[in-house]
Amino acid sequence: MKFGTKAIHAGQEPDPTTGAIMTPIYQTSTYVQHAPGDHKGYAYARGKNPTRVALEACLAALENAKHGLCFSSGMGAADAIIKLLVPGDEVIATDDLYGGSYRMFTKVFSKYGIVFHFVDMHDLDAIEKTINDKTKMIWVETPTNPMMKIIDIAAMVEIAKKHNLISVIDNTFASPYLQNPLDMGADIVMHSATKYLNGHSDVIMGAICTNNDALYEQLAFIANSCGATPGPQDSFLVMRGLKTLHVRMERHCQNGKAVAHYLKNHPKVGKVYWPGFEEHPNHAVAKKQMRDFGGMISFTLKTDSFEDASTLASNTKVFSLAESLGGVESLIGHPASMTHASIPTQERIKTGITDSLLRLSVGIEDEEDLIEDLRQALEKIV
Ligand SMILES: *Cc1c(COP(=O)(O)O)cnc(C)c1O
Repeated sequence: MKFGTKAIHAGQEPDPTTGAIMTPIYQTSTYVQHAPGDHKGYAYARGKNPTRVALEACLAALENAKHGLCFSSGMGAADAIIKLLVPGDEVIATDDLYGGSYRMFTKVFSKYGIVFHFVDMHDLDAIEKTINDKTKMIWVETPTNPMMKIIDIAAMVEIAKKHNLISVIDNTFASPYLQNPLDMGADIVMHSATKYLNGHSDVIMGAICTNNDALYEQLAFIANSCGATPGPQDSFLVMRGLKTLHVRMERHCQNGKAVAHYLKNHPKVGKVYWPGFEEHPNHAVAKKQMRDFGGMISFTLKTDSFEDASTLASNTKVFSLAESLGGVESLIGHPASMTHASIPTQERIKTGITDSLLRLSVGIEDEEDLIEDLRQALEKIV
């Protein structure tokens, strides 16, 4: 089956008792057993719920995976993956990482004796140089947030395999519509399903997909033991969101392209970071591993003034000033004062997050309205 058909049908059958076309929301905490231990694989809903099982099968199909597992948030999924490790183990992660992952690695898991190294993964030598006999995992995000760097997944996986390391890709920014890391040999794909997968900014959820039976068994054990599993209502909503993932992503990409080109030609705009531009330093890798370039764009102003960025972000009317991304509605964010405010100024500027950097999650509204909105907001800067 092709992507759009899987997004609508995978893991879902009409309800056998009534023929209901939509998977029911099995709002239950437990299941009746005929005799002790005699149940249909469902004993207690922390471990398993039929609505969640249908969603997990649908997600696995979209990532071309054997197994899918859902969590109550993206961070819940990331937490379970790090719990595969034991004290003394080391992880090599991308330096341009989602702030919440960076916080969990450095503030929570470092207390349990797990060591994290943050390296620029453009330089594959830098990965090789950081590997020692305690290294167990490579953790990659691509495209990165907010600098939109692209990391070569196949090349990273090759290094991971050579050194017997677990390779993990946080595929939140791309979604399975744009790239399937397991097809490139990665061991684990994780998602904040809160973003593009659900797509309607009304659920917090996480997911993991893998083809590796042993890793799946361990992760399912951790999920049930530690308990960050999602409820049936949220599972239903994400499954409904997934039904339009391919249609939404097509429009996100189309609008993203139009907005990126508009900004690039605007006299007040400085740099525009979007992997679809031929002059993007990793355009060739993006073209190789992604189906299209997505709706995430970052840009700076020529003045690079904090005040000008603030004026712009406060004057858009269609783009709402908010954290998060991947919903049908367009959002604008100012990383220096919002998502990346906790990073010391010198370090922040070194990674490219300058005072005027703005990040757009381009939604699926009409292209003309999005461009007109940016035009009038840019005009407010004097
Ligand atoms: C949002 C996000 C997360 C965390 O997911 P939650 O659902 O908010 O817990 C992890 N990685 C990336 C890239 C994200 O954007």
